[in-house]
Amino acid sequence: MNWVTRVRNALPFVAKRETTDTLWHKCKGCEAMIFLKEFEENQSVCPKCDHHGRIGPAERFAAIFDDDSYKVLPPPRVGEDPLKFKDTKNTPTG
Ligand SMILES: [Zn+2]
Repeated sequence: MNWVTRVRNALPFVAKRETTDTLWHKCKGCEAMIFLKEFEENQSVCPKCDHHGRIGPAERFAAIFDDDSYKVLPPPRVGEDPLKFKDTKNTPTG
């Protein structure tokens, strides 16, 4: 990705174009280029060599549980400095 593409993708008012980076997935098992949609529909398993790609928790939960059978809880709130570490290093500020 060159700097023009990075800047263009960072602009919120410019529509994102589908590029070859988002259309294809390179298998880590056989290094074949697989159409990304086909790879995702096959639950991140390479159709050529059966290499299982990594998936995130959202995809994993969607594959295991029925719809609305679980909910994502917010992270717990932590009070200010619960471990009370003391800064012993002299670090330059500002
Ligand atoms: Zn493969």
